[in-house]
Amino acid sequence: MTDSYDYDLFVIGGGSGGVRAARIASTHGAKVAIAEEYRYGGTCVIRGCVPKKLFVYASRFSHSFEDAAGFGWTVGEPQFDWSTLIVNKDKEIARLEGLYRANLDRAGVETFSDRAELTGPHTIKLTSDGREISAKTVLIATGGRPNVDTKLSGIEHTITSDEAFHLEKLPKRIVIAGGGYIAVEFAGIFAGLGVETTLIYRGEKILRGFDEDMRDVVTKAYGDHGINIVTNTVFTEIEKRGDTLVGHTSSGTALEGDQIMFAIGRSPYTDGLGLEAAGVKTSEYGAVVVDDEARTSAENIFAVGDVTDRVQLTPVAIREGHAFANRMYARQPRQVDYDLIPTAVFSSPEIGTVGLTEDEAVARHPNLDVFVANFRAMKATLSGSDERVVMKLLVDRETDRVVGCHIAGDSAAEIIQVVGTTLRMGATKADFDTTMALHPSAAEELVTMRTPTRRHGTVS
Ligand code: FAD
Repeated sequence: MTDSYDYDLFVIGGGSGGVRAARIASTHGAKVAIAEEYRYGGTCVIRGCVPKKLFVYASRFSHSFEDAAGFGWTVGEPQFDWSTLIVNKDKEIARLEGLYRANLDRAGVETFSDRAELTGPHTIKLTSDGREISAKTVLIATGGRPNVDTKLSGIEHTITSDEAFHLEKLPKRIVIAGGGYIAVEFAGIFAGLGVETTLIYRGEKILRGFDEDMRDVVTKAYGDHGINIVTNTVFTEIEKRGDTLVGHTSSGTALEGDQIMFAIGRSPYTDGLGLEAAGVKTSEYGAVVVDDEARTSAENIFAVGDVTDRVQLTPVAIREGHAFANRMYARQPRQVDYDLIPTAVFSSPEIGTVGLTEDEAVARHPNLDVFVANFRAMKATLSGSDERVVMKLLVDRETDRVVGCHIAGDSAAEIIQVVGTTLRMGATKADFDTTMALHPSAAEELVTMRTPTRRHGTVS
């Protein structure tokens, strides 16, 4: 199948999308190679979802220790050791990286630990090795990188999420710039670990794009947990004074920390990739432009995952990589369905969300019923915690279809995964209503909300 090329398929980037595409293509009989310049597993495994979730678990113990007293436990003064967490996290990440490599080997994919750059549509150069390789088809799966405001004076003193996973010491004070899910998650992590935490955000309210009720719950809970949220403000300069970083802001105040972290979004990682030489067009933000079959402007070059800047989530990159390999090497015309993607914010409380936010839903379904249950979790009755659980269903009155579901509270991510399936099956409010409640649980509220909290539109 290789014609005169070294490989049928060369994959650049050994992250979620690239590894899946390489393995599946090879299983379908293609001769496949993959290059990874850092560590196999990519962002999600090495410095994204996985280590972050481990940090989230670590941070939540502080709440559990507090809650335990109301249930009769006496817990001594809890001590936290950052280096134990880092060592154990690194061990787990190394194990996962090993699995990724082993799975590629088992599938018969040739792996290179090197940076790869395109020198033409069919040619790739391994930059350390210097070798030039040819391939009939190329898949770009180079992911994204944290945005850094290079024009900000003193930016070199700051960190991004990449470095946050490897800090030698847990800071006593941290200031995090950003209001998206990564900034919010890290604020929850550091605060839970006992770090004095400030979040500085240029907008009105954190978690733009999420449902307003969810944004409000997290904002309130973060305030209650002692996280200082400074909105409508940006850094204008970062100054280093000994071990202290002073962040001067647009509102004239200064925020001090041992670390200042920027989590202000991520951009496609296409710098120096040789896209021009290969005839691959990018958007004004550097994203590789693809059609709905992942094809770029060069007919033999495809791209999947974060580098295409569509939906920056691991399961999406994996699906795109898998679908690409099936289309190319097994003639299975499977498309990726981007409708109703369940997502979570691993803040404390956690948010789980699927479908439209209330604002989006009203715009599309003007006759909308909004059901909101806002209550104190059962566990909180004895723990004394005043954390709220919020469950929200958005129902199009004309069809009775549930068009959005949002949950803030324990296990919201776990619940919303399954709610996602019901919404994709076209679940109506009547389907929720006729489902027997599971008692006692928080999720039973989803099937027991009888009266709309708000009604939009005129059609009854
Ligand atoms: P990546 O996984 O980024 O893989 C790209 C790989 O290509 C990298 O390993 C990179 O080193 C390599 N590479 C780049 N250029 C070259 C080159 N020229 N040569 C060789 N190799 C190259 N998603 C979720 O679904 N859930 C979450 O909870 C979640 N949490 C996150 C938390 C953080 C802190 C971050 C940063 C991201 C998180 N994400 C989460 C997003 C998720 O990590 C990405 O959507 C996913 O990793 C994208 O996969 P990908 O294959 O497109 O790219």
